Amino acid sequence: MLSETRALFGIWIAFVGLSIVLGGCGGGGGSSPAPPPAAAFCDTKAFTVPVQSPYVLPYPPGVTYTMFQGNCSPPPGGHQTTFAYDFDHAMGDPITAARAGRVTLTANDFPDDGNAANAGGNSVWVLHDDGTIAAYFHMCQGCVMVAVNQDVMAGEILGLAGNSGASAGPHLHFQVFEDNTSFNNGDAVPITFQNATGTMAPTGELLEGQAYMAN
Ligand SMILES: [Zn+2]
Repeated sequence: MLSETRALFGIWIAFVGLSIVLGGCGGGGGSSPAPPPAAAFCDTKAFTVPVQSPYVLPYPPGVTYTMFQGNCSPPPGGHQTTFAYDFDHAMGDPITAARAGRVTLTANDFPDDGNAANAGGNSVWVLHDDGTIAAYFHMCQGCVMVAVNQDVMAGEILGLAGNSGASAGPHLHFQVFEDNTSFNNGDAVPITFQNATGTMAPTGELLEGQAYMAN
């Protein structure tokens, strides 16, 4: 725990930066002066066919959640200029790694008060072998269960869901960025899942309001 605490102080500045570029789940697209039209932005990157996706849903097999805010969700949603999914996890529900990688960043001390100033709140970041990096946001205070530099397998529990950061209620915000250098909304990548059962777009994109069971 001590090492995690020290790591937290180390990444504090990084999170201050993130709070600027990430709009969070309820707060809109941040302070960008002229966000691109959602539809245009969403057409700039292609989805991977689900059977070829390196990602599994970020929760255990047999479990179902509704994805209630998805990619380029129009205002007043918080994802209008980015690719990200919100799942309706309840407080304390397990969040699992969607893909194997190495933990590069954690935050674990934010209260579960939905404070937008805390951006992603308690979170885990996992760097994948192709350089992409996944963010798991809004975990409950003290609920992160992995440490920086730890290697995790897909399906491994990273922590428990909560309501920390820019969050209007307990949920998981899942997002993947192109690399470990920029976490601007425009650097997010569209994601499909190899083990999702539910109604999807023809591309495999998850649809808002649909329930998805992890196989
Ligand atoms: Zn979100």
